[in-house]
Amino acid sequence: MIGGLVDGSIPDYQLSAWAMAILCRGMNATETACLTDAMLESGQRLVRVSERPRVDKHSTGGLGDKVSLVLAPLLACFEVDVPMLSGRGLGITGGTLDKLESYQGFNCDLTRSQIDDQLRNIGCVITGTTPDIAPADRKLYSLRDVTGTVPSIALITSSIMSKKLSESLDALILDVKFGSGAFMRDMETARRLADSLCATGARMGVTTRAILSDMNQPLGRMVGNACEANESVQLLQNLGPDDLKELTLRLAAELLVAVGRWDSLDVATGELQAALADGRGFLRYQQMIAMQGGKFVEQLPLASASILESPFDGWIGSMDGQLIGQAVVGLGGGRQQLHDQVDHTVGLEMLVRIGQRVERSQPIVRIFSRHPSAVEEAKRTLLQAISVIDQPTPAPRLIYE
Ligand code: URA
Repeated sequence: MIGGLVDGSIPDYQLSAWAMAILCRGMNATETACLTDAMLESGQRLVRVSERPRVDKHSTGGLGDKVSLVLAPLLACFEVDVPMLSGRGLGITGGTLDKLESYQGFNCDLTRSQIDDQLRNIGCVITGTTPDIAPADRKLYSLRDVTGTVPSIALITSSIMSKKLSESLDALILDVKFGSGAFMRDMETARRLADSLCATGARMGVTTRAILSDMNQPLGRMVGNACEANESVQLLQNLGPDDLKELTLRLAAELLVAVGRWDSLDVATGELQAALADGRGFLRYQQMIAMQGGKFVEQLPLASASILESPFDGWIGSMDGQLIGQAVVGLGGGRQQLHDQVDHTVGLEMLVRIGQRVERSQPIVRIFSRHPSAVEEAKRTLLQAISVIDQPTPAPRLIYE
């Protein structure tokens, strides 16, 4: 089936019917692993370039999720290789490559030999997939996109894992998010996806763990490309926001324990914290930007700032992630279509979090935009997205399972 998909001998209408059958009927663990294997084998794999363990992280995506920018260079300080193949943003979720392209000249289209050289030199790389990695996924994903068959757990699993397993990993950590700003809205569906991803990874010989994390509000304060690169630098300078730090350290610690660097998450977390505090992670980040042709600046310039104020006294009750994401896309910070241009300088700084007390007229969001009309539109969307309620409400936890 996958051979026929790649060589074009099976027509799209039959493949679409097949994908719809999988959406409706599901696949068991063996079938999902077989499909993943066939998709992986449709292309090439990256090769090992050192004796060091190879690790990576995948996130199912959310608002303000800039974990990869910090995690890859930080892990590389601990004698592991991080060959991270990432994607661009589409719709409301941002893409790691777009965030890194905020640095002038940054190259996300490395060849295989450039990837290998960079791993040998500094132990981490963040780049796009090469055309010969899992070509079956590229074809099948575009078909799923137009046939309503994206939300199948089996198809999502094989799509994600065929790309990640092509990196020849020893261990993989998955950040499976749920909530209003996530692909999976509820925890139960996120848990099913996490189980499916872990089972498939394990069957294919890679230690695979998953974390379920909350995406009912943006991660950190910043949403938007250069905004998020700047916040990543703040964390690498050990100044970053607590939630971003907690999630990044937990995901990184899980990987270091999985490859046997340390036995305990607490010890691994302490070591990672030390690498943030003494600047080792920050130095590796700057090396990564430079090796990929980027011009590093500590804080990238942003578009002009405007303030959205709270309309009432009260407490921040909820945030609608879809609307917040739409506000960023409306400012020009994301894509509606695959080939849209992104404005790296626009975005949002969330000045409040769920559960926080606010007074009327208190600033709640800083909007970075080039056009006054886009600011007004963003304000309208954000006022719909952020509810201010008249009763206290608890702050959500970040990591659930
Ligand atoms: N991300 C992927 O790479 N594939 C999917 O099917 C869904 C999300």
